[in-house]
Amino acid sequence: MSGIIDFLRLVAHRRFSSQAKMEAYQLNELKSMIDFAKSNSDFYKETLGNIEINDLKDIINLPIINKNIMMSNFDQLNTVGLTRDEVMSIALEKELNKDYLGYYKDEFVIGLSSGTSGNKGLYITPKSLTERLPFVFLARSGIPLRYLPFKILFMLRVFSQGFNDINSPLISLNYLSTMTPTNEIIRQINQRKINVLMAPPSLCRLLIPVAHLIRKPLKMIVTYAEVLEKEEKVRLGEVFGARVIEIYQGSEGQFASACSLGNLHINEDLIFVELLDEQYHKVSTPHIAAAHMIVTNLVNRAQPLIRYEMNDLIVLDDPCLCGSSFRTIEKILGRNDDILYFKKKDGSIQHIFPDLFSRWIITSSENIREYKVIQHVDHSLTILLDPITSREQNELIQQVRTRLHIELASYDIEFLMDIRCETIALPLNLAKYKRFEVAKDIAKS
Ligand SMILES: [Zn+2]
Repeated sequence: MSGIIDFLRLVAHRRFSSQAKMEAYQLNELKSMIDFAKSNSDFYKETLGNIEINDLKDIINLPIINKNIMMSNFDQLNTVGLTRDEVMSIALEKELNKDYLGYYKDEFVIGLSSGTSGNKGLYITPKSLTERLPFVFLARSGIPLRYLPFKILFMLRVFSQGFNDINSPLISLNYLSTMTPTNEIIRQINQRKINVLMAPPSLCRLLIPVAHLIRKPLKMIVTYAEVLEKEEKVRLGEVFGARVIEIYQGSEGQFASACSLGNLHINEDLIFVELLDEQYHKVSTPHIAAAHMIVTNLVNRAQPLIRYEMNDLIVLDDPCLCGSSFRTIEKILGRNDDILYFKKKDGSIQHIFPDLFSRWIITSSENIREYKVIQHVDHSLTILLDPITSREQNELIQQVRTRLHIELASYDIEFLMDIRCETIALPLNLAKYKRFEVAKDIAKS
């Protein structure tokens, strides 16, 4: 029931009748989050001190934090008494056991992310909030109610948002790993009479050659986790005969969802997003890339993220014709990594998503500052590791090698790799940077 109320509230928010009303709502939520953080988090008690927020503009007086600061103060920052060591060991254990579902202590979803620093970030989402996510998704997905019942197949990458399969008369949500062979995905779509597919664009591309095997055409494809190029949106729409929209979410929050016109809007009532230029001045002009994207999650009180700098950047679009006062997003920058392709022992090709491969690397050792993976046309790999400490480099290389051998062997993959330690300098423009670079003419099937 609370889900239904939430659903209606979320639909209503999209229609704030004026900018002023929306801003008043945001200010209220911001104040309430800041007060909560000051009273319940030792970290914020100290860093926010007596700073008062009486206007949205006042937020610039609060310090900006980032993943390193958050991780170094993890125990004092979260408000639910979890320690970094315990949460990290749980997250790593789940990763090794490929057990991505379920709640920690029956109360929290633990998210593990890599991000550009190459170091791990840990995110706590309370169960109560996670249980709202399907409703946020529904209220904001732009899926017309005439598509009821929604039969959704959610292609899960490496970490779930913590939902279990949902089976109710109006909505069913089923999960499949993105590693599932394409024929099996099609079989599930047919068997479960799926009408909404949620998957990264790269997975949708893999399904193109078998799209004709889908018996009942999909009504909608919802992409996430990677940039959906405009041309690709059109192409997928044509191939699958479905409407294609995207959502933008991460461990840090539910950033944006598509409206009924298919345009991506920031979820301004769930997350306060500041776009700033090099000099930390506000960027509100469409079509211009900001230099900093700083977010304050307005709903997650377990681990308050207040003025948290993201590695992603977004470019705003012109106001949307749907009339919503939520800002629109033209493009999300970053996330340009290539998919890896490997030869299996039986001669077939197996794709592996870069985020999965990246997790194998980052969870091999605590001593990895940055890394880069280059795949050559013969499918061999060069992996560069930039360690935090220069001691025990051979041990680090061995740890990564062993881990990758175990993971790749489980897919029957034969491969060659060269792993080296060297300093990796990230370019200033991270938007175009690729951590995974694959030779263009590599065999993909
Ligand atoms: Zn719109």
